[in-house]
Amino acid sequence: MAAEDDTCRPYAGGVTPTGTAHGARTHPVIDLHAHSTVSDGTETPAELVAAAAAAGVDVLAITDHDTVAGWDEAAEAARVQGVTLVRGIEISCAWRHSSIHLLGYLTDADDGPLALELERARESRSTRLERMVALMAADGIPLGYDEVLAQVGPGATPGRPHIADALIANGTISHRDEAFESWLGNDSPYYVGHYAPDPVRAVELVRSAGGVPVIAHPFTRTRTGVLDDALIERMRDAGLVGLEAYHRDHGPEEVARATALAGRLGLLLTGASDYHGAGKRNRLAENTTAPEVFEALEAASSGVTEVLRSETSSP
Ligand code: AMP
Ligand code: FE
Ligand code: FE
Ligand code: ZN
Repeated sequence: MAAEDDTCRPYAGGVTPTGTAHGARTHPVIDLHAHSTVSDGTETPAELVAAAAAAGVDVLAITDHDTVAGWDEAAEAARVQGVTLVRGIEISCAWRHSSIHLLGYLTDADDGPLALELERARESRSTRLERMVALMAADGIPLGYDEVLAQVGPGATPGRPHIADALIANGTISHRDEAFESWLGNDSPYYVGHYAPDPVRAVELVRSAGGVPVIAHPFTRTRTGVLDDALIERMRDAGLVGLEAYHRDHGPEEVARATALAGRLGLLLTGASDYHGAGKRNRLAENTTAPEVFEALEAASSGVTEVLRSETSSP
C-alpha cells in the first residue's frame, strides 16, 4: 500500500496521529474503533458501515463489545459501500475493580478459547444488568428489566447503555450521558460488575487467536491510576501491539504519556473515534490512525481473518 495515493480522500478532520493540521493532504481515513447495535451503538452494522462511507472513512474497524456477531453484516455492507473493513472486538477486562478495554483486531472468530471467554462475559453481563435494575427500582427509579431487554438488539452484548436507553424510552432522561452522571457511573451505588478476563490473559487470548491487541483509550479519566506502566509492560510482554493514544477521552497529557510509553516499550500508537451512533457524542473519523501504523497492525496478525479490501477504497 502506498502511503500517499492520489485516489485517497483527505482526512475528514479531527486530531491526526501527528497532532498537526493536515489541510489538503491526501491520506486514507482510517478509523479503527466503532460500535453497532450488536453492542451499545445505535446503528446496525450495515448502517454503521454506510455512515462511515458517508463520513469519508476509507478503512473502518467494527469493534463491538465482547462479540463478533456484527462481522458478517458489516462485511456485506462494506463490499456494497466500498469501505475497507477490519473485523475486530473490544474486550472488557477486569483489573482492580476497574474496567480496561482491549481492542482485538482480526482475531479468528472460530478460536475456541477466545469465543468461550467472550460467551462467558456476555452471559455474566445479562445477570448483572438485571441486578442493577433491581437495585435502581428498589430506590424508586422507574424501570423494569423487560424495558431494558427491549433495548438490546437480537444477539447483542448487553451493557449499561441499554439501561440508559430504557430510561430515554420511558421519558425519564433525554441522553445516555444523564444516566451515566446520575445512576450508571462506576462509583454509583447501583453499579454491579460482571465477569471479565484480566488484561494480560485477554492479550494472550487475542494473540493465540491470531489477532492484534491494542489497549483502547488507556488513560481515560476514570481509569487514571489503574492502568499503570507496570501493567502495560506485562501486557506488552504477553504480546500487546499498540495503544489507542488519539481518542476523545485523551488530552495532550494522556497523548504525551502514551507516546513516551510506546517509545519505551516498542508499541504502536493508534487513533480512532469510538463511534456509538447517537449513543455518544464521538463522531466518525474525529481521530484516525496513520497508514503506516495500520500496515504494521495488519502485518502483526496471523492472516486467518483478513482485512476486507474494497475495490474503491485504497488501503
Ligand atoms: P458496560 O460495558 O456495560 O460496563 O458499559 C460501559 C459502556 O458504557 C462503555 O462502552 C461506553 O460506551 C458506555 N458509556 C460510558 N459512559 C457513557 C456516557 N457518559 N454516555 C454514553 N455512553 C457511555
Ligand atoms: Fe461502548
Ligand atoms: Fe471502550
Ligand atoms: Zn469502544
